[in-house]
Amino acid sequence: MSLNFLSRCRPHLSLRLTLWFSLIFLLASLTVLGMAYYLLATSLRQQDRESIRTALQEYQAQYKAGKLIALRNAIKFERAAGKPNIFFVRLAGPRNQTVFLHFPEQWADFNLQELERMATIPAWFQLRAAQEEEVLEIATVRLPDNFLLQVGKDTSAREELLEHFRRVAFGVTIPLIILGLVGGKFLAGRTLRPIRQLIQTVQTITATGMMTARAPVGPARDELAELARLFNQMLDRISALLDGMRETLDNVAHDLRTPLTRLRGVAETALQAQEQPDTCRAALADCLEEAERLSGLLTILMDIAEAEAGTMKLRLETVPIGPLLADLVDLYRYVAEDKQISITTNYPPELAVTADAPRLRQALANVLDNAVKYTPPGGRITVTAAAAGAWRRFIIADTGVGIPPADLPKIWDRLYRGDKSRSQRGLGLGLSLVKAIVTAHGGHIEVASEPGQGSRFDIYLPG
Ligand code: ADP
Repeated sequence: MSLNFLSRCRPHLSLRLTLWFSLIFLLASLTVLGMAYYLLATSLRQQDRESIRTALQEYQAQYKAGKLIALRNAIKFERAAGKPNIFFVRLAGPRNQTVFLHFPEQWADFNLQELERMATIPAWFQLRAAQEEEVLEIATVRLPDNFLLQVGKDTSAREELLEHFRRVAFGVTIPLIILGLVGGKFLAGRTLRPIRQLIQTVQTITATGMMTARAPVGPARDELAELARLFNQMLDRISALLDGMRETLDNVAHDLRTPLTRLRGVAETALQAQEQPDTCRAALADCLEEAERLSGLLTILMDIAEAEAGTMKLRLETVPIGPLLADLVDLYRYVAEDKQISITTNYPPELAVTADAPRLRQALANVLDNAVKYTPPGGRITVTAAAAGAWRRFIIADTGVGIPPADLPKIWDRLYRGDKSRSQRGLGLGLSLVKAIVTAHGGHIEVASEPGQGSRFDIYLPG
């Protein structure tokens, strides 16, 4: 994904986020308004019905006490007492013929004769005025003498209130949209800020090639901050890898130049001494030795690269550990004896490990070779193998010169050689290869060392 593409996407993403935020805000606000409207309408309707029900019960009690006369008187008294004249009251005979009718004057619009034509009369129903704007809500009760008593109320007061609410709600919608857009833009800007900073960092690195640029990590603990943190960690690792590669390249160039210069010198000597066959032969032998050294160096470097890249081909088989260690110790017996170093082994006779036998031998030989190299005369080396749970553990411990704590993390680096090791033969590749082989087998290697006391290498391989 090119940076141009990223910068082309940016405004669209910001616009899309702004619109999404605004839409969500608007929908939430409208939902709240809708719910408020619904609750208001329901509670107003309930209030109306409650007042109709109370009036119906009162008129029913009056009728029960003194029939139509008492009902008529009750309404008359109410008016005389100045009670608001808001209820419609109708008394109908058993066949729904109107016996008594009372309604406020403003209800002339309602076609009250319609009531007589109704075949079935539900407990609650609505009657519409001629213009269909006003609605009369009516409750009906059948009396013990089979008469019908109906009480109704005009719903215009509550409709007015609801209409006012609708107007206010409509009025605030435009400001809500504007507020949503402004808030959405602000939120989109805030959300995209870390991504913009990330893009800026990538642009700086691409433009300048400087791997030192890092994306700012804010105090937030969200996914974008995590992304910036991981991005910086990735840059740290890439920088470290590049530094490592540069250093390795320098070291390899340096290590190749020395034998090549020597090769050239020896070849020149041979050319100049054409008349002396012995000198010529000796020079050719030197050339061969240097060429072998060079080829060995390159083979080990390639092995390490293969193992680290995970492409080292391992032919895994069950390897009995006893014969393997016996062979190995035999290989170093003479050198050790020369230096008066004792090598002792300790392993269960039947112990075996699943490994590539030649590679495992190569790894153990390198560690043992170091132990012999870095142990002064009179020292001791112990080679131990044992089962440790699902692992096989190999320990090679010596009483040699040891490794300074500051050098311990570096000993696995390619071409690293300790200061005190310069006097010994070696390329600084042994432990890198050991680690690479062990890791390729799915194992790991640990070191513990104390200068002047000795070193101990623990190799763990899956059983
Ligand atoms: P080298 O060819 O120098 O032995 P290695 O990669 O095998 O390279 O080891 C790297 C460095 O680790 C050595 O130069 C040495 O300083 C240190 N080292 C390795 N093994 C031992 C040991 N058994 N005792 C002391 N120092 C050791």
